[in-house]
Amino acid sequence: MPGVPVDYTRLSDPNAEYTMRDLSAETMGVTAERGGGRDVEITDVQTTLVEGTYPWTLVRIYTDAGVVGTGEAYWGGAVPELIDRMQPFLVGENPLDVDRLYEHLVQKMSGEGSIGGTTIHAISGIEIALNDLAGKILDVPAYQLLGGKYRDEVRVYCDLHTEDEADPQACAAEADRVVSELGYDAIKFDLDVPSGHEKDHANRHLTEPEIDHKAEIVRATTERVGDRADVAFDCHWTYTGGSAKRLSEAVEPYDIWWLEDPVPPENHDVQREVTQSTATPIAVGENVYRKHGQRRLLEEQAVDIIAPDVPKVGGMREGRKIADLADLYYIPVAMHNVASPIGTMASAQVGAAIPNALAVEYHSYELGWWEDLVEEDGLIEDGSMAIPEKPGLGLTLDMDVVAEHMVDGETVFDPA
Ligand code: MG
Repeated sequence: MPGVPVDYTRLSDPNAEYTMRDLSAETMGVTAERGGGRDVEITDVQTTLVEGTYPWTLVRIYTDAGVVGTGEAYWGGAVPELIDRMQPFLVGENPLDVDRLYEHLVQKMSGEGSIGGTTIHAISGIEIALNDLAGKILDVPAYQLLGGKYRDEVRVYCDLHTEDEADPQACAAEADRVVSELGYDAIKFDLDVPSGHEKDHANRHLTEPEIDHKAEIVRATTERVGDRADVAFDCHWTYTGGSAKRLSEAVEPYDIWWLEDPVPPENHDVQREVTQSTATPIAVGENVYRKHGQRRLLEEQAVDIIAPDVPKVGGMREGRKIADLADLYYIPVAMHNVASPIGTMASAQVGAAIPNALAVEYHSYELGWWEDLVEEDGLIEDGSMAIPEKPGLGLTLDMDVVAEHMVDGETVFDPA
């Protein structure tokens, strides 16, 4: 009813007398006092939105020790507001209790039905900031908190676009340019592009000429760079199971890295059938929240490659847990990513710490100032990201660049 104020915060009110499953330090009897410089309390949580490839939601957690942690949440209109609403659940807590605080936030917000979507984006950004903070307090890189290193650098694949994305030769030419000049040996194109043969955009059916057109993009691209690069193609949850099977079969001769999200993510039975019908590897996962969401995809072997987005589906330790679950089924992990250097490094730190990492996505090669957001240089070189030995994520925001590219109406968060 217009004009009637609704208190949407009631279900997650930190002062509410009911406790649900309250995991706060006070309720759990966890003391803040600890030895070895670990006696630290969170004093504030703030966000700043940067207009990057997407609106990058940077999250900063402040402490009474003067140490700050920086994270990033996947975009989504309500994310900064959700983070503000969770601030009272974090103030006074020890940031080293990363797992408990993560579960505490999920539980507190779950009264609103928020066990996925933008609430988890917001919690992911907080969780990444907690990992950065914990690494700085303990003076270890974030990968160390995740169990140590399998590799010093993590492979990066570059998501490509062309002015005429439906022109197979334009795709082949851009693939050639990026592989030859920018040093990537792994790339991805969108395949849900217009072919001019569409009959109906609602029914998810691919006509034969549409499949021929997509197969021609795949053929032209892999023929040009296939001996120098792995090439993946993304379908963005568009097609019927039957169309997805026909498309997967049509591109089998070209030995692609993977075909991503050919069918919508909700129906595991269809997903599994498509994956098991074809020799083309199928990747899914960026829209599947937390380990609970990814579980069935993995247990039913409904994917060949799992593709979680760390700043979106649950954060770094949840990424590690999803990777562990995938490893039970010998399934590799290719981390979906559209983030600034902060979220990308969070994904790379996870990639360093898990056995089954294939690569991390880089989605900003056309932006021009992606790396300027942090003081460090040379983040991605020769198609891979070196993992810093500095504490936490190992990155320092350049606050002038943050201010320069802020979303209109935003304010920069307080200095570190
Ligand atoms: Mg995708």
